[in-house]
Amino acid sequence: MASENEIGAAAAADAGLAFALPARHARGRLVRLGPVLDDILSAHDYPAPIARLLGEALVLTALLGATLKDAGGQLTLQAQTEAGIVDLLVADYRGGELRGYVRFDRERLAEQPSQPSLFALFGKGYLAITFDQAVSNERYQGIVPLEGGSLAEAVEHFFVQSEQIPSLVRLALGDGGHVAGGILLQHLPEGEEGRERLHARLDHPEWEHVRALGGTISAAELADPELPLETLLWRLFHQEDEVRILASVTLTRGCRCSHDYVRGVIARFAAEERAAMVDDDGFISVDCEFCSRVFPIRVSDLES
Ligand SMILES: [Zn+2]
Repeated sequence: MASENEIGAAAAADAGLAFALPARHARGRLVRLGPVLDDILSAHDYPAPIARLLGEALVLTALLGATLKDAGGQLTLQAQTEAGIVDLLVADYRGGELRGYVRFDRERLAEQPSQPSLFALFGKGYLAITFDQAVSNERYQGIVPLEGGSLAEAVEHFFVQSEQIPSLVRLALGDGGHVAGGILLQHLPEGEEGRERLHARLDHPEWEHVRALGGTISAAELADPELPLETLLWRLFHQEDEVRILASVTLTRGCRCSHDYVRGVIARFAAEERAAMVDDDGFISVDCEFCSRVFPIRVSDLES
């Protein structure tokens, strides 16, 4: 049986913290993933570079998902390429639940060095970030070219270019990829989200100050499962007048696939198309790309 300490450490490992620095008009998020990351990766047999990439993408997804205002909203991060080794990367967040997968070319990846660059993996690609708000039923999507040396840089670029919000993003992996952490810091001088701005002012003194403090965070701190996020937050900003903790969230692995959902998808195919997919036993087997669960659908059930 796990001791109380172990339970506490596990709970702290898959967590997100939302905070604000009111006097600087800044807000931020800290995220750490441990067991949830292992859980998600264990559904796949990914080589190290792909596992690292998905680990970073999941931290990013959690950082961005925590900015959703309503709890039922969904955040989807999707990276797509034209002819990259990685063809598609998808990760999403809803109500603290994370999931994700990567589609890639195993043979081409094997020809790469052990730590291929972002460009080597994606080539010419695009990053799409979609915010679905459940309450208002609003959907917003921003798309930017996948540029820079890392996913973190690409997302900073997304916020500056697409949202006009000065942002700092840092991601780190530790313990051989079993722990991941990240920080997102943003400057919102207008004091509210979604307000039209013509351009982001990256040299605002408030933002320069916040960015400098946030930039002192180390990869080792971000990916240290023993270091509570609250402690990390205090280390960074203890000299500020006020650091307001807005929310803390426990992150879990979640997938929304179900037999009924898959059956519904298959039912929409024409009978001739289904006939081409069915196996000798009369089943069409569909596996969920997120969690690798397999759903055998009996075709005769659909036709009755
Ligand atoms: Zn699934």
